[in-house]
Amino acid sequence: MQRDFQFYIVPTPIGNMSDISYRTVEVLKDVDIIACEDTRTTQNILNHYNISTKTISYHKYNEQSRVEFFLDLIKEGKKIALVSDAGTPMICDPGSVLLKSLRENNVSVTSLPGACAVTTFLSQVPREDETFIFVGFFPKTSQKAEDLLSKYFDTNLVFYESPNRILDTLDLIKKIRGNVCVALGRELTKLFEEIIVDDVENVIEHYKTGIKGEIVCMVYPNNKSDDFDIKSKILNLKQKGFKSKEISTILSTLYNLNKNDVYKLTM
Ligand code: SAM
Repeated sequence: MQRDFQFYIVPTPIGNMSDISYRTVEVLKDVDIIACEDTRTTQNILNHYNISTKTISYHKYNEQSRVEFFLDLIKEGKKIALVSDAGTPMICDPGSVLLKSLRENNVSVTSLPGACAVTTFLSQVPREDETFIFVGFFPKTSQKAEDLLSKYFDTNLVFYESPNRILDTLDLIKKIRGNVCVALGRELTKLFEEIIVDDVENVIEHYKTGIKGEIVCMVYPNNKSDDFDIKSKILNLKQKGFKSKEISTILSTLYNLNKNDVYKLTM
């Protein structure tokens, strides 16, 4: 027996149309309305599975204004499902604004398990431990990007990135973290799916003629034997006007290094 909810958060395929559960199809058939980012994109899935449920747009530009509308429908006894263009809603997709209001209004909400690029990726790249940090899309400003790469140098750092920017991002990773190991997942679940796990220099070389498709990337932790690019950090801080003593204090504190060793490198 299935429990009934008023609102369902529903994942859709990230590339392979068959990656959808029986329950997902049942729920999408059973609800009164499907809220979706792009009604035309979702209609392709609905047509494929003979689902005739009405759709309505819900995207980052009308998120706030739709909240009351959905709450009124729920008060009328209607059941709603939320989908995004692909994968799991609220994983780098809209939904949070609505969910906050639903919870505040004691609406019964559930989410269905299913396709998501980051979990599909993580479940097929080797890791020495379970720890990872997922930051969504990689920052667009170089300062934020550098800070992120420095802050999470000792854990698996996972992010989404566009094909237009990934080569610059790999160059930045090399600059900040040295020739660290990275994993890159491209076009997951699609015909030209590719996973590559290698030193960042080799990955850059592999894609030197360009890269297309949707991408998830992970930077492995720098371990002690890596050539962690502390010198580029020193240079960076020098360019910002910090003195050798200040630099050695900052870097030794941040990265748990010997202060005198760092000081010598600043000379
Ligand atoms: N909600 C989605 C999810 O559950 O993964 C993510 C939506 S986000 C707007 C889109 C980004 O997810 C893409 O730019 C790409 O980085 C990543 N992505 C989505 N599908 C992918 C795929 N098939 N292979 C690799 N990355 C994918």
